[in-house]
Order: sequence, then C-alpha cells, then structure tokens
Amino acid sequence: MLNYPDKVNSVRARVAAACERAGRQPEAVTMIAVTKYVGVDETRSLMQAGIYDLGENRVQTAIDKITQIAEPSIRWHFIGSLQTNKVKEVLPYFSMIHSLDRYSLAKELQRQCEKQGRSIDCLVQVNVSGEQTKSGFHPDEVKGFLNEIRDLDLIHVRGLMTMAPLMNNAEDTRPVFKRLCQLRDSLRVSHPKLEHLSMGMSADFEVAVEEGATLIRVGSILVKS
Ligand SMILES: *Cc1c(COP(=O)(O)O)cnc(C)c1O
Repeated sequence: MLNYPDKVNSVRARVAAACERAGRQPEAVTMIAVTKYVGVDETRSLMQAGIYDLGENRVQTAIDKITQIAEPSIRWHFIGSLQTNKVKEVLPYFSMIHSLDRYSLAKELQRQCEKQGRSIDCLVQVNVSGEQTKSGFHPDEVKGFLNEIRDLDLIHVRGLMTMAPLMNNAEDTRPVFKRLCQLRDSLRVSHPKLEHLSMGMSADFEVAVEEGATLIRVGSILVKS
C-alpha cells in the first residue's frame, strides 16, 4: 500500500506554498480526496491520513463504499454528472453536489429534499472552457439559472465548480480558474452565499489555489504511485 500520510502531507505543503504565493490562508482551502480509483481499504487509509472530505463520481460504487465505510465524520462530495433518476438514491449519502448543471436536476433535488426532509448544498457547474465534452453552464448563463432556482428553497447554492481542460502545462489553465473566480465575485453581490470555488485537480491544483480555489479535488496524485 502507498504511504498515504506522506502523499497527503506533500499535497498539503504544495497547497500551503501556493497560498503563500497568493497571500491566502491555507485554512481557506479544503482538500477533497477523490477516491473513485480505489476501494474501501485505501479509502480508509486516506481517512486515517487526516482527510475528512472525500469525492466520488459514480452513484452505485459510491453508495456501496459509503455504506461499508459508515463513518459519519466524513463529508462525501458528489462530483460526477448526476442523472435525474438517481437523485433520490444519492441524496441520503452526500453533503454536497458539485455538478448542478441543469434546471431539471435542481427541480428533482428540491422535490426529493422535500420528501426526505432535508436540504442540500450544491455548486453550479460552469463550463468555462467551452469544450463540447464538458457539461455545465456557459458563464453568461449562471446568473439567469440562479434566478430561475431562487424559489427552490431546499437547494443551497454555495458556489461554483469547473473542470479545466487537460493541458500539457498547468499554467495554461490559469485563465479558466481566473474566469470562474471573477464570475463568483460578480454574482456574489446579489448572491452572498456563493463562497466556494471547486476547481483544481491533480495536474493543476496549485494554479487553482493561486486563483482562489476553496475546494480542490485531487485523486491520482494521492492514490497512484
Ligand atoms: C476524477 C475527478 C477528479 C480527480 O482527478 P485527478 O486528476 O485524478 O486528481 C476531480 N474532479 C472530477 C470531477 C473528477 O471526475
């Protein structure tokens, strides 16, 4: 098995250095370990290395894992694309949905929250780069969407999420992260609860942190040798 504490500490040190460069506090950045590549044992090892936020992108494997781990102190983040007909199943297991990308999904989240007697924290997914293969709103559509879901009172939109295109050079992702941060800042005037920016993965988290990420989603860097 890999040395998870070393891996986790190394990412934490790189986050701290990126914060230092940007004049930010390291406590303002939460590392979400994406455990989609590994099973229950490795996931437990990551938890023992001091990680309390875990990310999964597939409904059934996530629920199986969460049920087996059964650790209430963990906050599970749903980071994959979410089918409307899976909302009912997913809701009891997750603290935050990072992939709110259409009105019909919001509507169903509200409906199931009503049934289950809860609310749900969500991030609106934004397709900043405009790649066809990525889901999410065009940056110009987000304001309208937030107005559209204004009455869905059990959906608490806490921020924005994006995935940068895969680049050979992480520096090339900077404009994407910068744009998401500017968008959040401009929307915050009318939506003060938009505090989070979920951006940055293994290849580009340092640039994302420099540009204001509050949640980074790192998988392969932690669990692959
Ligand atoms: C898999 C995945 C990640 C983690 O990617 P790594 O490059 O392995 O760090 C982050 N975000 C989303 C949405 C993912 O699907």
